[in-house]
Amino acid sequence: MKRIIGKINPESRHVNIWGAGFSGLILGYFLKDQGYSVTIYEKSNKVGGKIQTKRTGAGLVEKGPNALFLNQDGLELLKELKLEPIPASKKLRRLLMINGKPKGPFQFGLFTKMATNIFKKPPLVSDGLTVADFFRPLMGQENIKHYLSPALGGLYATPADNLHFKSIFSQVGNKAQFNSYWTFIKMMLKHQKDQPKLELSGSVSFEGGMQTLINRLAEIMKNDIKLNYKEPFRIKGNTIICADAINASELLKDLRPDLSSALGRIQYRQLCSATVFLKREIKSLHKAFGVLIPLENGYSSIGVINNKAIFPTNNGNVSSYTFISSKLVSDKEVLQDLQLLSSDITKEDIQHIEITNWEKALPIYDLQLFLSVKKLHQLAYKEENLAIFGNYVAGISLREMITAAKAFSIHPLDYTSAE
Ligand SMILES: Cc1cc2nc3c(=O)[nH]c(=O)nc-3n(C[C@H](O)[C@H](O)[C@H](O)COP(=O)(O)OP(=O)(O)OC[C@H]3O[C@@H](n4cnc5c(N)ncnc54)[C@H](O)[C@@H]3O)c2cc1C
Repeated sequence: MKRIIGKINPESRHVNIWGAGFSGLILGYFLKDQGYSVTIYEKSNKVGGKIQTKRTGAGLVEKGPNALFLNQDGLELLKELKLEPIPASKKLRRLLMINGKPKGPFQFGLFTKMATNIFKKPPLVSDGLTVADFFRPLMGQENIKHYLSPALGGLYATPADNLHFKSIFSQVGNKAQFNSYWTFIKMMLKHQKDQPKLELSGSVSFEGGMQTLINRLAEIMKNDIKLNYKEPFRIKGNTIICADAINASELLKDLRPDLSSALGRIQYRQLCSATVFLKREIKSLHKAFGVLIPLENGYSSIGVINNKAIFPTNNGNVSSYTFISSKLVSDKEVLQDLQLLSSDITKEDIQHIEITNWEKALPIYDLQLFLSVKKLHQLAYKEENLAIFGNYVAGISLREMITAAKAFSIHPLDYTSAE
């Protein structure tokens, strides 16, 4: 499915963009690069949306994304922007909370179960299939709960039982069916192998954090962005809505009620990020990227990111960890999670805590989102100069948005999809 809904008229060389989060900025940047003039209307007093880095006395805090996972388009973009990426440390352990302890995810029980079932035929791929439905015959419900859901939760903050298979594994194609799990795995490995080899890969950040990327885009478009914009929404000339689905639905309420109602059905997940600066390291997370925590483990958090291990140069002398929860947490609950991870840590070890609550953090990639986006594509098919873009249609990660925005800017009428 195309990664931008609707289209613009390339003969009219001006584009109005509503929303200056990453989707609006990156689309504005690529369109400008193709010779369009752009105006970006942002209702708040700052650009970047969910991307916000705060400098505290203790160190940098990423309130939203902490990294950009590179693909070829991402790497080319950083070169064009003359930004020096800081690569994430290599060979960090990826841990999962198993029986109350952070451990490597490849446990014997899981491995033998999967090896036994690898030649089984998976369920047919259909619009209604969830990720859990697909993998249940391979790994069993218990392993879905303990391994798969937390692993996917690290990206989508949603359990496998709700995640829509075709949306999460869009690279398998709309019509693909599999004779066995082995065929599926081989196809995924081939897809990975076919990706171009990059001189730099993996996750990167920047000196000054992710805000540096936003500041650079904003600097290039400084004369094109109108902050605190409160005038009524209009569809005048080429118009692209880059607000989240809830605000996009509100914008289109009177002018395009059909589009508005499809957008309004997209659900969002709450996320709270609590960055803690500690005077000492959490030993069980030594040389680890972090730990994913299955639900019902006594923790408020669904994952902990070890900031200092990932980007040492951005994180000075103190240890810094970000606890991610799917509800608003207090300082006390963060301390409780810290003590569950490492019983010797006391309140006195905490130098600073910074809590950010995102009421509507991420769109839930479930069947409802898939159906809404499908409907939006059908409804917007006849639009001449209206498009809709954001992380609920382009993909949740920044790199997917870069690829989709670049493709659209080059071929706004018939661009190739992000995959
Ligand atoms: C805690 C967290 C961690 C994440 N970590 C990562 C990560 O490490 N790597 C990664 O790739 N991705 C990550 N993501 C996902 C990524 O941050 C988002 O997908 C992306 O930033 C969303 O960009 P967006 O432009 O679609 O939406 P937003 O960032 O929500 O931007 C929308 C913009 O539209 C504006 N707006 C809203 N309504 C109007 C209106 N009526 N008029 C004008 N403007 C309007 C808003 O003010 C905002 O500026 C993370 C997300 C969260 C919440």
